[in-house]
Amino acid sequence: MSKPIAVHKFGGTSLGSAERIVHAARLLKSAAAKSPVVAVASAMGGLTDVLLQAARDAERGKLGPAKKAVETIRRRHVEAAAGISEATGGKVVFDGRLLEELSTALAGISMLRERTPRVTDLVSSFGERLSAPLVSSALVALGVPSRPVDARTMIVTDDHHGAAQCDRKKSDPKIRRVLGPLVSQGILPVVTGFIGRNPSGETTTLGRSGSDTTAALLGAALSASSIVIWTDVDGVLSADPRLVPEAHLLRRLSYREAAEMTYFGAKVLHFPAVLPAIAAGVPLVIRNSFAPKGPGTTISARGSAGPGIRAVTAVPGMCLISLNGGGMAGIPGIAARVFGTTARIGVSVVMFSQASSEQNMALLIPEADRSRTVAALEQEFRYEKLIGAIDGVVARAPIAIVAAVGDGMKGTKGIAAKVFEAVAAAGVNVEVIAQGSSECNISFAVEERDRAAAVQALHRTLSPE
Ligand code: ADP
Ligand code: ASP
Ligand code: MG
Repeated sequence: MSKPIAVHKFGGTSLGSAERIVHAARLLKSAAAKSPVVAVASAMGGLTDVLLQAARDAERGKLGPAKKAVETIRRRHVEAAAGISEATGGKVVFDGRLLEELSTALAGISMLRERTPRVTDLVSSFGERLSAPLVSSALVALGVPSRPVDARTMIVTDDHHGAAQCDRKKSDPKIRRVLGPLVSQGILPVVTGFIGRNPSGETTTLGRSGSDTTAALLGAALSASSIVIWTDVDGVLSADPRLVPEAHLLRRLSYREAAEMTYFGAKVLHFPAVLPAIAAGVPLVIRNSFAPKGPGTTISARGSAGPGIRAVTAVPGMCLISLNGGGMAGIPGIAARVFGTTARIGVSVVMFSQASSEQNMALLIPEADRSRTVAALEQEFRYEKLIGAIDGVVARAPIAIVAAVGDGMKGTKGIAAKVFEAVAAAGVNVEVIAQGSSECNISFAVEERDRAAAVQALHRTLSPE
């Protein structure tokens, strides 16, 4: 029986320059010596931001800065190709034809002064479409047979531009049909992360950081032995190292812990990436491309059974919406109507809490959705407001959600007391509290300006593993 495939994904920082790309290609080469490999490439570091800014400039009619961005992108790739050739002794040339398509898209946006989610996805797709061929050429230059593969030939998604969901029923057979023959011929495919295509053939993206999800989708469809996510930190840490520099490495995590952490802001992994991995039972391994000898973090069903809290995460940029009123207690179905309203306008409720007195209901939504959510809820509850059952809809921002996560929290007494004692001692006021019924997460909302203090205070209560 042939060996199972390993999927290896490289993030933007791991592909930031010719030197980094060659390094990634060397890591791929040594992985390919052990088992068949499928690679997934993100855009070169920072490039997706450059593309999105170019689209915004074009929308405001500033075609000059947009054109300049295209030239910056060209220069970075030309330099990378030259650097790869120099480092490997191979001949890697950058094919600039794609940039003509990009320029046309930007000119279109500028002419119409309109930047739809559809065209935004098209523009942001170029980062990965440009990087995958470079990584593949670096492999060929190192003597590894390789070919770039555009994920749009395999990943079929819904129409939700900017955060599209993969239709696995349609995509899985395509993934196997496209990648299977390449792998069995000994060719290492380098797939563009982040992008897909809807049923009408338009380019979609899986959301910022979506290349992790591309890797997970391929790994699940191919029943891979593992999905390795190469990044710029040693693995999943007990907190965001930018907020807590002393955060420690978590060697093992359960899928549930990883899902809770990434849902509540641990940016090291794209939340939707956990789902295909769970469904297929394929472990996700997070490793540092800058220190590849490290053990990294393995996320699997096994997890680790340590007691108490294992990690602290935070999501910034939230808005707290509350519905208050003495008359709410008597009205049936208020929560259902609140959720019905947010679902109708397509706003996701990240956290929800209702006091048992039924006189207050709080929901946390992305700050960007504030005004339309308030308007829709005011419309929904206009009658209750008129009769005085509800005082009104109040919105406050910026708010952050902080979460304490750990499978071992379940059944450990006194966790909530410990969490709120630590936060109170740091002088932070807690606005809303929620505990998931799985008991492996306690989350609460604080003012954005208190986010770092709350995370740091909570992290001080953790013991190193
Ligand atoms: P890539 O370009 O490789 O996809 P990302 O920037 O998307 O990298 O994710 C890695 C970053 O995630 C790290 O540099 C780190 O700053 C941030 N991060 C946030 N929370 C955590 C955490 N709990 N553990 C590790 N990294 C985290
Ligand atoms: N390039 C995309 C982004 O910057 C996707 C990714 O890197 O995962 O969001
Ligand atoms: Mg990422």
